[in-house]
Amino acid sequence: MAVPKKKTSKSKKNMRKSHDFIKAQNILVCDNCGAPIIAHNVCKFCSYYKGRNISIITPTEEITENQV
Ligand SMILES: [Zn+2]
Repeated sequence: MAVPKKKTSKSKKNMRKSHDFIKAQNILVCDNCGAPIIAHNVCKFCSYYKGRNISIITPTEEITENQV
């Protein structure tokens, strides 16, 4: 059986263990457009947050106008 040459330090052990308890981000559905969004963030598809438009220029409109 292979035997470790050095003891694994607390730091190295904790750095490895940090990945074990990562939770998935809370995904919600946008009230305005129905797209999946991250909680407590502005919708990146329609720029709405808590039922009102945040940005002056909506990013999705800009992209579609340039593509068409
Ligand atoms: Zn939206």
